Amino acid sequence: MTDPTPPAATAEPANATAAGLRLEDVTRSLNAWVEVDLDALAGNVRALRETVGPGVELIAVVKANAYGAGVEGVAPALEAAGVERFAVVWAAEALNLRRLGITRPIIVLGHAFPTDAEAAVANGITLTVHSPKLAMAVSKAARKAGTRARVHIQVDSGLHRDGVTPDQAVALAHLISGLPGVELEGLSTHMANADEEDDSFADEQGRVFRAALEQLDWVPYRHAANSATAIRRGELRFGGVRIGLAMHGVLPPNTADPGLAPVLSVKARLARVVDVAPGEGVSYGLTWRAERPSRAGLVPIGYADGWSRHLSNRGEVLVGGRRCPMIGRVCMDQFLVDVTELPGAAEGDEAVLLGAQGSERITADDVAARSGTISWDVLASLQARLPRIFHRGGIVQ
Ligand SMILES: *Cc1c(COP(=O)(O)O)cnc(C)c1O
Repeated sequence: MTDPTPPAATAEPANATAAGLRLEDVTRSLNAWVEVDLDALAGNVRALRETVGPGVELIAVVKANAYGAGVEGVAPALEAAGVERFAVVWAAEALNLRRLGITRPIIVLGHAFPTDAEAAVANGITLTVHSPKLAMAVSKAARKAGTRARVHIQVDSGLHRDGVTPDQAVALAHLISGLPGVELEGLSTHMANADEEDDSFADEQGRVFRAALEQLDWVPYRHAANSATAIRRGELRFGGVRIGLAMHGVLPPNTADPGLAPVLSVKARLARVVDVAPGEGVSYGLTWRAERPSRAGLVPIGYADGWSRHLSNRGEVLVGGRRCPMIGRVCMDQFLVDVTELPGAAEGDEAVLLGAQGSERITADDVAARSGTISWDVLASLQARLPRIFHRGGIVQ
């Protein structure tokens, strides 16, 4: 008789039991993975702190799974590196940070519902309050829990995405000051074109924000800057800067490098290498055809992993230290790469989609340019199936 119960599938991430092992040993049998260099991350925190100077807090923006890098490894490493606060967009993301053991203040930048108030207050999470209804829900939750809750108000200074008008902010602030259990700790705003060559609209937004601050000078904490603003505009740093992209060593356009190092790599192993005769095609639609006797390597990662289908016949991958063109369409789980110039290419060879191999490097900006998007999108699109391997100096953490 055979046991009808199959062995339990393990839901553990690939690196859950791999701490202390070498990167190459842990990744030897992986199809594809994301490597996160925690030394580079800590170095970026130091460089950014140097740039913004004393008296300005670093607020690490770790929304969207820490920009695809894996919040479970990135957030604790940032806390250890000394960032003063965290920010996310969803209330659920903030609760997840507490589950991960983050103890520093966490700001929810995005829309919260009154139904989010109780869990947020119980977990010491700072909501951005946008309505009297939400403010009252926070007050009620704070009284129920016998605690004081801190909240922030975001002033819409011209982005017209979220936040409230300056007048509404003043009215809401006065309402909050009369509510028991709630303390209005912070005022924020968000910039519309901080990374454009002409970022002069930030001057206008700064004026609008400052006018609101003058009316609410009793509110102690102010924050307005994303990565580009924090690096480019000293006068808009206020009490803290909200840094997302730059933590990962990727710079917004038109932004000088304060000495950052890339944190994240995307790698895969060739699943096989096949011959393609002249005239034959590869992948769905046969959109690429060999013009010479060719060899195609199968890369086991696809658009389901966040490797954009827009990279079909446009992207490049490093194999054997060379840039090799992606050929044919990107499928859900795999795509092909032309390795004709690498006669030794074989199953198991490392393919670098993002990051360095030998003296070559593919940056998030390279990938973004080839897929018609921005570096933020390239990182944040990386999906859960890819194991995140956090390491320091090549040793898995
Ligand atoms: C995402 C986000 C940031 C971080 O932006 P980066 O350009 O990645 O540094 C800052 N503030 C708000 C409100 C955001 O939504």
